[in-house]
Amino acid sequence: MSNLAYKRVLLKLSGEALMGDDAYGINRITIERMITEIADVVRMGVELAIVIGGGNIFRGVAPGAAGMDRATADYMGMLATIMNALALQDAFRQVGVTARTMSALNIEQVVEPYIRPKAMRYLEEGKVVIFAAGTGNPFFTTDTAAALRGSEIGAEIVLKATKVDGVYTADPKKDPNAVRYATISFDEAISKNLQVMDATAFALCRDQKLPIKVFSIVKPGALKQIIEGANEGTLVHV
Ligand code: UDP
Repeated sequence: MSNLAYKRVLLKLSGEALMGDDAYGINRITIERMITEIADVVRMGVELAIVIGGGNIFRGVAPGAAGMDRATADYMGMLATIMNALALQDAFRQVGVTARTMSALNIEQVVEPYIRPKAMRYLEEGKVVIFAAGTGNPFFTTDTAAALRGSEIGAEIVLKATKVDGVYTADPKKDPNAVRYATISFDEAISKNLQVMDATAFALCRDQKLPIKVFSIVKPGALKQIIEGANEGTLVHV
């Protein structure tokens, strides 16, 4: 086994990470490329769980959902994450990695329900566990599900995959002088009003002393480098 900086990680993938350059939905080339990178680190011996978002599918139905009551729309959002989870699970199968989807909402014919001891066993067996349907509750986000499941499974870190390679002093797209933080504490991020995750997710990670690494999922090799302990992305620490 190679030298691993982390043995058990929780990877948060937004639904939008599956879209590529499309307006919504799942882009085949994007998902295949991403799965190849994730499969690489799984083969290094990392125990890896994923919380997947739903923004890519939900965006496609958002016009129809306009004016809907919030809780109902949120349940639609959670169902969208289950579709993404199944797409991920199958993409893993195609590269020879076993993945199991566990859902916070019970849809027995399609996915198994989330049962913590079972999830822990899958991880010990080297299977990828994909957590679907967020927390199972409306008014939350999949970022919060990542903080929650990460805490539950004893992950050493939450790896938050974004399109930007970390947290910056300002928006790097608007300000050419923006500088990436290599590390920042939870307290500093709050005092500087930096958006790392939504407030509920952020508070949970801070309370549980669960560090967060924000990194770019579109940068080839970044995930592997993080697993090897490289100074990649931004580490938010206690
Ligand atoms: N959602 C929810 N409860 C949860 C997680 C998600 O109600 O615990 C709903 C919510 O409507 C959200 C949608 O599912 O907008 C998709 O999740 P999210 O926005 O976190 O996905 P991402 O932006 O990461 O793709």
